[in-house]
Order: sequence, then structure tokens, then C-alpha cells
Amino acid sequence: MDRIYAPWRIEWVERDEDPVDGCPFCVLPERDDDVESWIVARGDHNFVLLNNAPYNPGHAMVIPYDHVGEWGDLDDEAMLEHGRLKAATLDAMDAAIGPDGVNTGMNLGDAAAGGSIDDHIHTHVVPRWEGDTNFMPVIGETKVIVEAIDRTYEHLHEAFSTLDIAVDAGRSGDDRDEDDADGNGDDRERAAVRLSI
Ligand SMILES: [Zn+2]
Repeated sequence: MDRIYAPWRIEWVERDEDPVDGCPFCVLPERDDDVESWIVARGDHNFVLLNNAPYNPGHAMVIPYDHVGEWGDLDDEAMLEHGRLKAATLDAMDAAIGPDGVNTGMNLGDAAAGGSIDDHIHTHVVPRWEGDTNFMPVIGETKVIVEAIDRTYEHLHEAFSTLDIAVDAGRSGDDRDEDDADGNGDDRERAAVRLSI
């Protein structure tokens, strides 16, 4: 089998927007445009963000809203939801883009682990295809990459919106609406995904 050398990461995508000032995983969920931020789904404690330096189109990350650097520092509800939201992300990927396989995991610690943001934990969910170094040019025009991610966003967002991912049958949609009353971003346009834990 021929192996094609490709760098692991596509160059950081330059986009026409204000640069993030501070921790992007804290700042992006506070913005009022999930589409622009590439936040594809939200739970109560975690959200799903498309990576803007993707290994493949559809490379997503499950991220807690809390700025937490240690996996064990997440509280139980957030940790359970983190796992559920990862499972939902896998389902959405299957439905939307049908990868041959998926890599999922965390880079913990400093840059030696391969991560670029080491003080706000996040779980990578990376769709893989046979021979996927050819799936998209690894070095290409920025515009092409942005458009590829935008298209993937639409597909994934739609897939999330059709998932049935309520995990606690004891709570109704009305209960969830009440939870929304805490004012945590109700005015945002959200993906139609709300975990109930
Ligand atoms: Zn943060």
C-alpha cells in the first residue's frame, strides 16, 4: 500500500471574524451565533463544536461549558452528559456523513500530548475514511476548507435535530423548558438537542 505523507492538521482556518480573546471554548458558547461559531449542538453542561483545524471534515469536539482542565474535576451530571453527548455525536456522524470509522479521545496535559488547548478539557470525535488523507486536500485554499466545514455543519446539525437523545424518561419536555428558565442562553438559536439528565 502506498502511504501518502500528510501533516496531521490542516492549517488554522482564517475566517472573517473577530479573533477570539481568551479561551475559545469559553468565549464561543457565549456568542450569539452558533452557526458562525460552528457549535453544532448544545446540552445543558456541554456543547459540540466543529474543529476549525480539522483532521477531517466533521472533526468535532464535545466540550463542557465550565473551564475545567482535569477530566476528574467535572461534576457527575456534566460527566454523564459529556458521555451521552459524545454518543449522540457518533450517531449524528453516522447519519450525516457515514464515516468508515471514528477516532475519539482526549489530549491531556501540555503540548506533548498533541493538544493545543490544554486547560479546558474536550473530547475529540474524528470521523475516518479508508484512505482519508485523500478525502480532502490537506493543504488547500482556506475558502475551500471553510466551505467544507460549513457544509458538514449543516449535515451534522440536521442529524442532531432528528436524534432522540433524551436519556432520562422521568423528565418531560416541560421539565426541560423549566430548566431553561435559568437564563443560560435561552435567546440563542440552538440546535434541537437537549439532554435531560
Ligand atoms: Zn475555557
